[in-house]
Amino acid sequence: MQQCTIQGDMQSDRASEQYPTVNLCDDCVRREDAKGPDSAIVTKGGGYDPDLGDSCELCGVTVEEEKGN
Ligand SMILES: [Zn+2]
Repeated sequence: MQQCTIQGDMQSDRASEQYPTVNLCDDCVRREDAKGPDSAIVTKGGGYDPDLGDSCELCGVTVEEEKGN
């Protein structure tokens, strides 16, 4: 799990909704990285941030579930 800035709602007027910072699981980061220029990930912010919630924004896997893999 790591904190990333992703492409969100481009129709929004708010930068925080256009480029939200969310937690993504390692699988989703790998999957997005594999898309190259089409990746939804704008920047990778480093470590997991519990303040952003305890589950992956894209697939919903939780920190506990990810550890259990
Ligand atoms: Zn995920």
